[in-house]
Amino acid sequence: MKLAMIGFGQAGGKILDRFLEYDSSRGTGIIGHAIAVNSAKADLMGLDYVPNENRVLIGQSVVKGHGAGTEPDLGEKCAREDLEEIQSAIDKMVSSEIDAFLIIAGLGGGTGSGGSPILADHLQRLYVEPIYGLGILPSRDEGGIYNRNAARSFQSFAESVDNLLVFDNDAFKTGGESIGEGYAEINDEIITRFGALFSAGEVEALGDNVAESVVDASEIINTLGEHGITSIGYASEPVDPGGGNSGLLDRLRGGSKDENGFSTAGDATNRITSLVRKATLGKLTLQCEVDSTERALLLVSGPPDALNRKGIDKARKWLEDQTSCMEVRAGDYPLPNEKKVAAIVVLAGVTDVPRVKDMQRMAIEAEERSEELRSQSKDNLEDLIQYGDDEE
Ligand code: GDP
Repeated sequence: MKLAMIGFGQAGGKILDRFLEYDSSRGTGIIGHAIAVNSAKADLMGLDYVPNENRVLIGQSVVKGHGAGTEPDLGEKCAREDLEEIQSAIDKMVSSEIDAFLIIAGLGGGTGSGGSPILADHLQRLYVEPIYGLGILPSRDEGGIYNRNAARSFQSFAESVDNLLVFDNDAFKTGGESIGEGYAEINDEIITRFGALFSAGEVEALGDNVAESVVDASEIINTLGEHGITSIGYASEPVDPGGGNSGLLDRLRGGSKDENGFSTAGDATNRITSLVRKATLGKLTLQCEVDSTERALLLVSGPPDALNRKGIDKARKWLEDQTSCMEVRAGDYPLPNEKKVAAIVVLAGVTDVPRVKDMQRMAIEAEERSEELRSQSKDNLEDLIQYGDDEE
């Protein structure tokens, strides 16, 4: 599917940059137009792939190019002030080519957190195409302020977009490293999952390799619906491209087994069902109860030899049972020179999400704590003034 992508704030810009790199190196054609919006000049200058003319500096009269820090109210103000500037950059796109908009933002900071819901509202008024958000949640150890910002923005962003696709940094930090060092790896994970999803809908890139059951942009749009939260599962396994489902030696040996006891070399059907289980029951971009899903989509990509309809049908039935929803779409995406088979599971309209409740709890605690600090410092200041008076 072809998207107009808008990276809002620092995280949004960096992730957009990575999407552009992915798109140009793989020739997927998923990006129809790319714009980076920020109130911090230095962040915009640090991007590598977004064309200079599509980098929009907002809120100069408010923050003088220095960014909105951790103040979403400032981010919101900057966005409102310069909506026209953003719109002029969007106007450069060929709108007939675009299937949907995607606004990408880290929800814990200031610019993206405060600005993206404002932009989403604005685009909803102007375009018939769906407006999606890709919202990045802060890790828990970033602390109360970031989680408070994210809790607020999560609510307003979810209300202003047709679907909020969520990625939780907290679930993807790797042991020991600081979150800053880990961003490159985390961003790779984001691009792998969302890049694979959006490429699947971009059927023109397939050429002669027509999939048995194609998933096109409209199936992705129907799955995401017009309201709700989405989480994505992903699992992949290396294969020998063009080597069929197994090598001769592997077949003679009876194939090796993975940790679930399925044959990794012997059987395309088993591999597909095993990968779909791993994708659904493993790490999701937003941890949630799978049976609270409203609509689901399952995609399997890989070399044509490793894909088959039976595997996808079996996996779809299994996913129907797990999600207990009636609307489960499925399809494959053949990639002739690919060295892995990958399963992507889209869980749309999820409602049982413990992480969101946790974030809201952290937000309330942060609010109470800052209220306490405010009244303490007011008392302290009064004491100080009083003390000063007494001294004279
Ligand atoms: P803004 O520029 O004011 O919108 O704020 P930032 O985008 O710098 O930060 C907001 C939040 O985004 C942070 O609290 C982090 O959780 C997250 N973040 C920042 N940079 C990255 C990044 O490169 N990748 C990911 N996944 N998250 C990031």
